[in-house]
Amino acid sequence: MESVALVKAEPDAPAPLARVENAELSVEQIVARVSKVHEIQREVMKKGHHYGIIPGVDKPSLLKPGAELLGMVFRLDPQFEVAEQLREGQHLRVTVRCTLYHIPSGARVGSGMGSCSTYESKYAYRKGQRLCPKCGSAAIIKGKEEYGGGWLCWKKNGGCDAKFKDGDKAIEGQQVGRVPNEDLADQHNTVLKMAIKRAHVAAILYATCASDIFTQDVEDMPAENFEPPKAPAKRNGKPPAKAAQKSELYQEMMDLMERCSSIAELEKLVPDLRACVTAVSEEEYADLRSFYARCTSTLDMQRQAGAEG
Ligand SMILES: [Zn+2]
Repeated sequence: MESVALVKAEPDAPAPLARVENAELSVEQIVARVSKVHEIQREVMKKGHHYGIIPGVDKPSLLKPGAELLGMVFRLDPQFEVAEQLREGQHLRVTVRCTLYHIPSGARVGSGMGSCSTYESKYAYRKGQRLCPKCGSAAIIKGKEEYGGGWLCWKKNGGCDAKFKDGDKAIEGQQVGRVPNEDLADQHNTVLKMAIKRAHVAAILYATCASDIFTQDVEDMPAENFEPPKAPAKRNGKPPAKAAQKSELYQEMMDLMERCSSIAELEKLVPDLRACVTAVSEEEYADLRSFYARCTSTLDMQRQAGAEG
């Protein structure tokens, strides 16, 4: 093939892939392709592994293993190239193009772009967590009101079971919520991998007609692409929480989710999560949503493992 490119092209010579490129997909072929994707979702894919369900999003999100599976079924070979790479100080933005080739014919069947940057909140910030003044572990949670409130170094999180009173400066004086990430260079490889993954999923969705069934992984989407559900500006006539209370609410919600041990418990938190949209920043809300999605898929996998074992 390489040597062909060097000789003068003969105008009448048919392009090697003309047969494939000219073949338009018939309606039947498209229907067959979509129903094949449906069948694979039903028969082969596992929720929480190949795809994920995120509350408030109408289509399931195609995850990396799901994209790989569809690629295998349709015999597609993904080729990746970095389309753009920008460095600004320690920050990195990278855009990757994924081109899919049909293995038996060599035909190029589609491509997708994916980008990622260290400006995304999950890389630019880390979660500042309260550390236990006694044992030093990040296991501090808010004590439930019915058990007297205060703060607890939770054993389940690897804590020492120490209790602290409400208002204790050793706990409440600590910086929590979003803390700028000091070492962005550590995230560069992750950012590249994420861009590759997004490009791959985008290309597979397009090339296999799977976008009728799946959407791009919302959890992986940059916060600016994420539109939180609309909620009234005031809750129960109360004004939105003040800035100082925002991180508290965010932290509390994270803690509540961490404590859930079943999907049912987690689902009970959905109304609270929705209400949070007015009280926390957009990035924090996106963080909460992505954390929720991770909790759901982890619990689901645990449940499945339990059922199989
Ligand atoms: Zn402790």
